[in-house]
Amino acid sequence: MPLTPLHFGVLAPVNHFLPGKVSLVSFTLINLWMDGNAILYYGFGLSRPELHGPTTHSLLASLILASILAAIGFRSRKWVIGAYLGGVTHVLLDMLVHSEMQPLYPIHWNPFYVGLMEPLSLILLPFMIWFLVQFSRDAVKCFRRRDGSS
Ligand SMILES: [Zn+2]
Repeated sequence: MPLTPLHFGVLAPVNHFLPGKVSLVSFTLINLWMDGNAILYYGFGLSRPELHGPTTHSLLASLILASILAAIGFRSRKWVIGAYLGGVTHVLLDMLVHSEMQPLYPIHWNPFYVGLMEPLSLILLPFMIWFLVQFSRDAVKCFRRRDGSS
């Protein structure tokens, strides 16, 4: 799912049941990093790269990339959890809808591919909306706190 905001739907139930335990910033950064090739392709018109290659879209790669990102903010448990949660859930969601992925690299095929992009998107959409409601509510709280009113 290159560039899709639906990955953030994962955060809605996590934020609901474990409020304040996962960093939105590290979750966002790892998702952007993993879809970096797609961002370069769709955003800047660079030649078509391997969008879901094993260097970004495998469980092994997600753990390596998340570990690098986690090391940057290792003093924050919230940061580390966000990096790993974002990386692993990115692969878990993408492997269902991209046949060319190799989620279990070095195994060179995708046993989890079901080809159900639309149904998965429809399932994730309410979670994405739920996340946006949470985000908006938290942003309003933050601004009110800064203004000193509540
Ligand atoms: Zn992806």
